[in-house]
Amino acid sequence: MAIKVVKDQCIGCGACVAACPFGAIEMQEDAKAFITEACTACGACVDTCPVGAIVREEEEKQVQMDKNAYRDVWVFMEQADGKLRNVGLELLGEGRKLADATGQKLCGVLIGEAAESLAKEGFAAGADKVYLVEAPEFRHYSTDAYTLTMVDLIQAYKPSVILLGATNDGRDLGPRVACRVGTGLTADCTGLGIDEATGLVAWTRPAFGGNIMATILCPEHRPQMGTVRPTVFKKPAMDYSRSGEIIRRTSRVKPDDIRTKVLEVMKMCTAAVNLEEAEIIVSGGRGLCKPENFKYVEELAAVLGAAVGASRAAVDAGWKPHLHQVGQTGKTVGPKIYFACGISGAIQHLAGMSSSDIVIAINKDPEAPIFKVADYGLVGDVMEVLPILTEELRKLKQA
Ligand code: FAD
Ligand code: SF4
Ligand code: SF4
Repeated sequence: MAIKVVKDQCIGCGACVAACPFGAIEMQEDAKAFITEACTACGACVDTCPVGAIVREEEEKQVQMDKNAYRDVWVFMEQADGKLRNVGLELLGEGRKLADATGQKLCGVLIGEAAESLAKEGFAAGADKVYLVEAPEFRHYSTDAYTLTMVDLIQAYKPSVILLGATNDGRDLGPRVACRVGTGLTADCTGLGIDEATGLVAWTRPAFGGNIMATILCPEHRPQMGTVRPTVFKKPAMDYSRSGEIIRRTSRVKPDDIRTKVLEVMKMCTAAVNLEEAEIIVSGGRGLCKPENFKYVEELAAVLGAAVGASRAAVDAGWKPHLHQVGQTGKTVGPKIYFACGISGAIQHLAGMSSSDIVIAINKDPEAPIFKVADYGLVGDVMEVLPILTEELRKLKQA
């Protein structure tokens, strides 16, 4: 939506200038109001004009979208190095529920260099169809190639709903595709449902620093799009007796369409930081008191074969890189066991780990909020408790 002044109607009264909280309206030499690039389209000026000379551009055009032409629930099946990322399977499990509740088909979208063998995973996770686009230019994720291909698929087959993982790739691809096809996108969702009154997808995500959960609908445009954090939903039980239809589409990407080139791939993601796929995570917070004490967390993680997480306070203090951060502005994790060591349990931290199966908290304050979500709690000094725990587990493992 853009705001504009209809020049012929403007009488130059200047009332709108003071009404704009962003200083985005200037009076020009011809005594007509002019809206500058500082405009955020907030709409505060529209009703202040006594002659109705300020209008929302969309009202003029009023895009009439035939929403009935859009059907089916799509899931972007993210893959890398010939392997599907878990998030795609998690979303197929949740997409199945949305598709069943609305009487639509569930479809996976596979884009890759040679990705056909992954389609069976999609069917096993619940997909009825898989749209497959294969070409050498999809060897590595590329913003240009993947955007063009997704847009081409959407225009050809018109899905009603598209779910993508809120991963590096999904967060890059989703908004770009949404903008190209003229729809909205709810980013970083932590819950999905169907709005009973409208039958639309109800996208839920934290807002205002995680203090409230906002539920967002996309009533006027299609497809309804959103990114969903990995591990928010569990992977569905895989049924390899299921099969489905593979719909192949030829890539329309030309070499010149891709403006970036992958020169080298450097793997930073060792097991210790692969938090989103980890079965056990040991996380440390400000209660570790100094960066050197992270060694206690790392030693326990090494014995358990676990990934190492950190609270934002520990990351902000420079004790661990952001790659390790768990929480609303870090990673969302869902391991079988989550150790919170010297972490208070602020709501923004809980937003990233509360779907863990078992939470074990170590904190010297018996009133710390983390104990409200913990299955097991140890009240004590983390620097004393962790070495004992590590040693005992090491002995158990050797035995
Ligand atoms: P603290 O809150 O300072 O807690 C330290 C804990 O250690 C205390 O409970 C204390 O009792 C205990 N302790 C101290 N010494 C010892 C000891 N010797 N032995 C045992 N226990 C001890 N936070 C995140 O973690 N992830 C996020 O993604 C995130 N995103 C945010 C986004 C926004 C918009 C905002 C506003 C905040 C966000 N935060 C996030 C910050 C969050 O609000 C908290 O400030 C942060 O989680 C606190 O980290 P902490 O628990 O390590 O530190
Ligand atoms: Fe200013 Fe908002 Fe009007 Fe834009 S829409 S000119 S930001 S008051
Ligand atoms: Fe023109 Fe309306 Fe602004 Fe007055 S309030 S200057 S008439 S646009």
